[in-house]
Amino acid sequence: MSEEVKPESVSLYPASAAATPEQEVVCIFGTGDLGRSLGQRLLQSGYRLVYGSRKPHSCGPIPPGAQVMSHEAAAQSTSLVFVCVHREHYDFLETLAPQLNGKFLVDVSNNLEKNMYPEANAEYLQRLIPGAHVVKAFNTLSAWALQNGPSDANRQVYLCGNNPEAKQAVAVISTKLGFTVQDRGSLSAARELEDFPLQLFPEWRLPMRLTVGLTAFFFFYLLTRDVIYAYVNEGRDISFRIMMSLANKVFPSVSLILLSLCYLPGVIAGFFQLYRGTKYKRFPDWLDRWMLCRKQLGLIALALASLHIKNNKTSSFDTTMAWRTDSYYSIGALGFGLYLLLGISSLPSVSNALSWREFSFIQSKLGYLTLFFCTFHTYLYGWDRFLYVSQYKWYSPPGYMLCLVVPSLVLVFKLLLLLPCVDKSLSRIRQGWERTDPENDSKKKSLLA
Ligand code: NAP
Repeated sequence: MSEEVKPESVSLYPASAAATPEQEVVCIFGTGDLGRSLGQRLLQSGYRLVYGSRKPHSCGPIPPGAQVMSHEAAAQSTSLVFVCVHREHYDFLETLAPQLNGKFLVDVSNNLEKNMYPEANAEYLQRLIPGAHVVKAFNTLSAWALQNGPSDANRQVYLCGNNPEAKQAVAVISTKLGFTVQDRGSLSAARELEDFPLQLFPEWRLPMRLTVGLTAFFFFYLLTRDVIYAYVNEGRDISFRIMMSLANKVFPSVSLILLSLCYLPGVIAGFFQLYRGTKYKRFPDWLDRWMLCRKQLGLIALALASLHIKNNKTSSFDTTMAWRTDSYYSIGALGFGLYLLLGISSLPSVSNALSWREFSFIQSKLGYLTLFFCTFHTYLYGWDRFLYVSQYKWYSPPGYMLCLVVPSLVLVFKLLLLLPCVDKSLSRIRQGWERTDPENDSKKKSLLA
C-alpha cells in the first residue's frame, strides 16, 4: 500500500499527529454524513484516514486527524476505498478508473425505494470500474450507529463481493471497528443487502394482521352479543360498555389466542417430525414463516394482556364463589407475571446474557406454564356459566368460550407430546435418529435372506 501524499492534498491537522509508520491507510470518497461517521470510527480504531473530495480545500468538517485530497490523489494513497457518495453521482468514478484499477472498492450506498434501478448499485459500480474489486458492505448501518459504535441491534456488517481478498480486507476492518461480519456471498447478493434498510417491520406484518383480524372479529362478535342483543331484546341502551367492558373482554381474548399461537407451531412441528420420523426434512413454508414470527406474536400478546383491567364486583358472600374469584385473580396475576418474564427475556440485551438452555427453559417450559395459567384463569372466569342457556344469546357461545378453543387444543396436544412413549420417540428424532424407510428395510431383509 503506498502512503504517497500528493501536492494537492490538504491536511487540516498536523500530519505528525495522524501518522505512525505502521498505520494502515484507508480512503473514503465523500465527506458527507456517512463518510464522516465512518472516518471517525476508522481513526478511533487506529487507521490513517484520507478523504477524497470534490472540494479538498473547502469541504465540510472532517474528523480530527484525517487528510483531505482530490479523488485522484486519495485513490493513489491506499488500496481500499469506501465510496460514501450517492449512486446518482457515481459517474465521476469512471474517470478515475486508472487510479482505481486493482483496488478494493466498498459500496455503502442505499436507494430510496426498491427496484429504482435495473441493477444493484454495487453491480453498477463494478460495471463502471471493471478493474476494481467491489464489495458491498456497511449499507445496513446508519451514520448515527457508526458514530455511536456497535450496540446490540447494530452489531452486524453484511457484506458480499466476488473477490475473496477484497471481502477479507473489509471483514478485517469491520472486525477492528467492533462489528461482527456476515458474508452473504457474491456481488449478486448486493440487491438483497440494498433492500434490507428499506424494509418496514417485515416480521411484524403477519402478527399485526392476525391481531387486527382477531380484534375486529371479537369486537363485532361481543358487540352483537352484549350491546345489540340488549337493545333489541330488552330495549336497553348499554352502548357505553363499548369503551370499558367490551374492550376488557376483547383484548384478553385476543391476547390469549395470540399467546397460544406462539406455541401451536412448535406443537405442529413436533407432530410433523413424529409423522416423518426425521428432523432432516424441511417444514412447509407456512410453518417456517409462522415459527419466525413467534416473538412478535408473543410481544403483541403481552401488550394486549397489559390492557386487561381488573374488574372488582361486590357480591353477597358465598365461600364457593369467594374461592372461585380469588383463584381467578391470583392465577391471572401469576400468569401475567410469567407473561412479563417471557417478554423481558426475549429482549436481545437480556437473551444475550442467557445460555441457550436458560433461554429455552424460560421460553418453552415457563412459556407453556404461562399459557396454562392464562387458560386456567379464563376457565375460572367461565366457571359454570356454560351450563346456563341464558349465556347463549342468539344461540352463540360467550366470547370467553371461543377464545379458549385454541389454547386448550395447544395444551392438549402438548400433553400428548409429553406422554413418555411419544416424548421418547420425539427426543430421539431431535437427536438425529431417523426412522428407516420401510422399503429400504424390506430390501435389506431380502438381501440378508
Ligand atoms: P451526504 O451527506 O449527502 O454526503 C454525500 C457526499 O458525496 C457529499 O458530502 C459529497 O462529498 C459527495 N458528493 C455529493 N455530490 C457529489 C457529486 N456530484 N460527485 C461526487 N461526489 C459528490 O450522504 P451520506 O448520508 O453520507 O450518504 C453517502 C452514501 O452512504 C449514500 O450512498 C447513502 O445511501 C449511503 N448510506 C448513508 C447512510 C446514512 O446514515 N447517512 C447509511 C447507510 C448508507 P464531497 O463534498 O467531499 O465531495
